[in-house]
Amino acid sequence: MPLPATFQFSATSLQDYVDCPRRFQLRYTLQIAWPAPQTEPTGEQEHRARLARDFHRLVHQHLLGLPTDALSASARDPDLARWWRAYLAYAPALGDARVIPEFGLSAPLAGHRAVAQYDAVVIRDSQVEAELAPAQGRPQGSPLGPSGSTQFLILDWKTYRRRPSRDWLAGRLQTRLYPLLLVKAGASLTGGRPIRPNQVEMRYWLAEYPDQPESFRYDEATYQADLAYLTDLITEIAARAGEGESGGLLAEVWPLTADRRRCRFCNYRSLCERGKVAGPVDDYLEGDDVEVLDAGEAGPQVDLDWGQVGETVH
Ligand code: SF4
Repeated sequence: MPLPATFQFSATSLQDYVDCPRRFQLRYTLQIAWPAPQTEPTGEQEHRARLARDFHRLVHQHLLGLPTDALSASARDPDLARWWRAYLAYAPALGDARVIPEFGLSAPLAGHRAVAQYDAVVIRDSQVEAELAPAQGRPQGSPLGPSGSTQFLILDWKTYRRRPSRDWLAGRLQTRLYPLLLVKAGASLTGGRPIRPNQVEMRYWLAEYPDQPESFRYDEATYQADLAYLTDLITEIAARAGEGESGGLLAEVWPLTADRRRCRFCNYRSLCERGKVAGPVDDYLEGDDVEVLDAGEAGPQVDLDWGQVGETVH
């Protein structure tokens, strides 16, 4: 069953495929709803997901200029209030840079479209960035790109309970797709001037570890490597989707992940005969799928405001 012509590849859907091709097939090509909890207890997962969404909303509203006092008054949950206070302590580090919150970009990739929904992109002069670096937890002397050039900092708010490793974050499809799309499609932010890879940085700000953000500088070599990797990945998915002729559960089964730990937190586990009981939520937060609990990314459950999605035609 070929992918629909309107299908948009996001970091979430690409991550699904990399984690388990069968999950991608069930979720996106067959679009099979299979209600099952991802974790136990289900109430706790929903609670954490709601807090993550609330935190993203508060930060978005703050970056739009809503009064801090009014926003603070709405952060009543203890976890949310702690994250909010940490964000307010961090926010001055953004200085007077131009901050664009919650917007989408899309670009063609391997004959399809790829999309990203950014929590925030900070645009500033590299000299200002150099002065701010120590306050933001980055080692002094780390590369900042060409002096005097405009820098583009992709900020992504994460509410992980446990800190993921740098290697784990580096391997996430979000880390590879978001900077790439900013380079390919971000000229809409600059009045048409192209953005070079060495002007871009991806930074995960971790609400539970606010003084230790995880940053990834981008450069031409990484851009080219990511472009080749993502092109091959999308080509592979599209080819696999195009090979299947019948729909529904009779479609040829795509490979199931060999890592059965992923199945503990997957709603399709009973369909795949990979268990009936969801894994515990605290294990989930340490595991590979922790990202699912975060709001703010373009995925199948998140509606993009397509009026805000920038387009590029090349
Ligand atoms: S239960 Fe396991 S094999 Fe089945 S779709 Fe989910 S991750 Fe893949």
